Amino acid sequence: MQVYRIPALSDNYIFLLHDPDRHQAAVVDPAQAKPVLEKVRSLDAELTAIFNTHHHSDHVGGNQELLANFPQITVYGGAEDRGRIPGQQVFLQAGDRVSFAGRTAEILFVPGHTKAHIAYYFPPSNPGETGELFCGDTLFAGGCGRLFEGTPTQMVASLEQLRNLPDDTRVWCAHEYTLKNLQFALSVDGENLDLQQRFAEVKEARSKSQPTVPSSIGLEKSTNPFLRWDFPNLQSTTNSRDGIQAFTRLRGMKDRF
Ligand code: ZN
Ligand code: FE
Repeated sequence: MQVYRIPALSDNYIFLLHDPDRHQAAVVDPAQAKPVLEKVRSLDAELTAIFNTHHHSDHVGGNQELLANFPQITVYGGAEDRGRIPGQQVFLQAGDRVSFAGRTAEILFVPGHTKAHIAYYFPPSNPGETGELFCGDTLFAGGCGRLFEGTPTQMVASLEQLRNLPDDTRVWCAHEYTLKNLQFALSVDGENLDLQQRFAEVKEARSKSQPTVPSSIGLEKSTNPFLRWDFPNLQSTTNSRDGIQAFTRLRGMKDRF
């Protein structure tokens, strides 16, 4: 399974999964249809599935037009997004599985950014392969999604599920927010040497307009403050007595950053 990253809107990424053997493609969170159709045509593939992580328009905006072009597409989304995702046919819950290109993804229920948010995790199926995580707006490179519909407790539980995946899992998050996220991260965890190094690399990459996605779970664990709510230094920086409070305060500080 080949993953292509398609930039869309101002800072979104759409991901196109390609199965060269079967000449099929699937798309994760099509913000727009046009760039997806162009990529699918250039691969001479048939689009068979839309995998949506949540209902926001910058993730489902292309659904209808893609369906009009490929009427046989199956549209997947979270069960609790019923009525909010255009064309949705499959209503996924935690532990459900979906298949593409001979790989099977596990559905993770990750509420917080929205109440119905899901993630698609493809574990490695062969030695030497990495897992692929499509996490929408839950985990970002160096950050996490805003809490529009969920509580900090829900978001921490969601991020903990992602944190528990293997370190080499590739993290395909849906926005290029990394530089801004790491600027905030440095403001609360400035002594973290891994973070300092990552910031320098990301600054360099962005100055050349290079993408910083995918990231990896291992890199996020060592540098992303929103996966480090239980680290003593972040609890003391935020004057917190426990991890949930530290996460809540970090999220509030980031909202105002
Ligand atoms: Zn969103
Ligand atoms: Fe988004």
